[in-house]
Amino acid sequence: MNTSVAPNVAIVTGAGRGIGAAISEQLARDGWRVLGFDLTWPATNAPALQSRTQVDVADYDAVAQAVDGAEATHGPIGLVVNNAGITRDAAAHKMDPRSQWSAVLNVNLTGAFHLCRAALPHMRARKFGRIVNISSMNALRGQFGQANYAAAKAGMIAMTKSIAQENASLGITANCIAPGFIDTDMTRAMRPDILVAEAAKIPVGRKGTPDDIAAAVVFLSSAAASFITGQVLSVNGGQLMP
Ligand code: NAP
Repeated sequence: MNTSVAPNVAIVTGAGRGIGAAISEQLARDGWRVLGFDLTWPATNAPALQSRTQVDVADYDAVAQAVDGAEATHGPIGLVVNNAGITRDAAAHKMDPRSQWSAVLNVNLTGAFHLCRAALPHMRARKFGRIVNISSMNALRGQFGQANYAAAKAGMIAMTKSIAQENASLGITANCIAPGFIDTDMTRAMRPDILVAEAAKIPVGRKGTPDDIAAAVVFLSSAAASFITGQVLSVNGGQLMP
């Protein structure tokens, strides 16, 4: 339970569905006041969220404005979770440089930088912050058809380690989670035969759930994890042991 007096406002990107919705719910149960940033919002209100803001994480000005607005309206931001992500799969030799390569880099890597960039000055001024970035197992091994996605998620790991070094002395931790195969819209969009084959490769014998990832976010955001920074926590049912 987050019982410390540290800032307890959290921003979660991509909070409208999938892993981001589960992260928001578990953080709220842990005592965080959760603000959701997302591209579009479902019609029904997510009860875990204090606010729902429409933000494209690829747009720095929009992110910076939303962060400053959140600080003014809800108070000091203690945690940012960079969860928003997209896939635009194609083999590298057929990948469109703009609609597939740049689109994925702009959201999955640059989008995460944007939120860190906007939140860090606030965190540094208060000498407290938690950053949790949702990377991927495929950042650690590559994946057929995902040169864009794997590169973005690997870049996120290097960015996180750099931010961890720059801010460790100021009470700010930055870590990544590398999910394996998680049952969400993103994986349900895969070809059914590939989906079955991928699920069969998981040693624990089941697909991951959004709650499996959310539990790891809660831990890395907690006071118990204050000595953990610059790390990559794999949550993948044993599929990859880097
Ligand atoms: P998802 O169900 O497709 O949800 C992605 C969320 O990100 C949606 O709410 C989406 O908003 C939002 N989003 C997309 N582009 C955005 C943008 N430009 N600005 C703001 N929000 C944006 O995906 P998921 O499976 O929950 O994945 C969440 C994260 O985990 C992603 O970063 C993904 O790469 C990572 N991950 C997932 C798996 C897996 O197996 N599912 C494995 C490894 C890593 P809209 O609803 O408006 O589209």
